[in-house]
Amino acid sequence: MNQGLRDLSDSLNASVKGKFSSRKRQIDVLIDHRHDTDNRNRIIIDAKVKKRRIDVNGVEAFLGLMEDVGATHGYLVCPNGYTKSAERRAQEVVSLRLLPLDRLENFDPSTWPSCSATSRCKGKVFWDGYPSVDIFLAPLQNDFHSTNMVSYIHYVGKCDKCRNFHIKCLACGCVLTPAYDDEEDVGAQCQCKMPWFWLASIESDADGVQSAELHLIEGVKSSIRTVSRRAL
Ligand SMILES: [Zn+2]
Ligand SMILES: [Zn+2]
Repeated sequence: MNQGLRDLSDSLNASVKGKFSSRKRQIDVLIDHRHDTDNRNRIIIDAKVKKRRIDVNGVEAFLGLMEDVGATHGYLVCPNGYTKSAERRAQEVVSLRLLPLDRLENFDPSTWPSCSATSRCKGKVFWDGYPSVDIFLAPLQNDFHSTNMVSYIHYVGKCDKCRNFHIKCLACGCVLTPAYDDEEDVGAQCQCKMPWFWLASIESDADGVQSAELHLIEGVKSSIRTVSRRAL
C-alpha cells in the first residue's frame, strides 16, 4: 500500500461486523467522517494488490462488502486496470470508484465540492473519472519537430444525493452541471473556451434499458467520448 493511503486512513486492516452477514469483515482502509450530524460518511478502500484486471464480479463483490459494512463510498484499487463491463457496473453505482494506482485521491469528504446542480441539494460530488483532452501546440516558426502537448485534465463525477453529473476543469476551475433533460441540447463549456463541450443525454440499450450518459464532444476531431453513466 502506498504511503499516501497510509497517512489518510483512520484505520488500516479494520474489522467491522457486517450488518447482513453478521460476521467480521476485513477492510484494508477504513475512513470514518462525522463533521455534522446529518452527514456521516464511511469510506472503505480495497487496496489489495490484484494480479489481474478487475472484472464485473470483482466490482459486485466489493459492492456487497460496501453494503454489508455500511460504507457510503468505496474505492477499489485496480493496479492492473479493469474491464469495460467492470467500468460500466461501477458507473451505475454513484459512490464506487475504480482507482488506478497512479492516481491519489482526496479521501476527505469535507473537501469534496458541494453539489451545484440545484441549490436545494446538500450532496457532495464524488469524482469517478478524469478524462483529459490532449492538444498539440506548434510553434510559430512551423517547426514540426517541436510541437508541445498540453493536457487539459477534467474530473467527472456525480452528486452522491441527486446523482447529477458534474465536471470540473482543472485548468480554469469551472464546475459544470449539464442537465440531461435540457431541451436546448447546446452543451456546457468551461471558461477555457476550448473546442470541446459536455453534453448529457438519455440513452437506451438494446434491451430498452435507459441510462443517463455524459459525453465529451471534441469539435476538432468530431469525436464523442462517453465519460460517465448512471441508471435512471
Ligand atoms: Zn445534488
Ligand atoms: Zn476550463
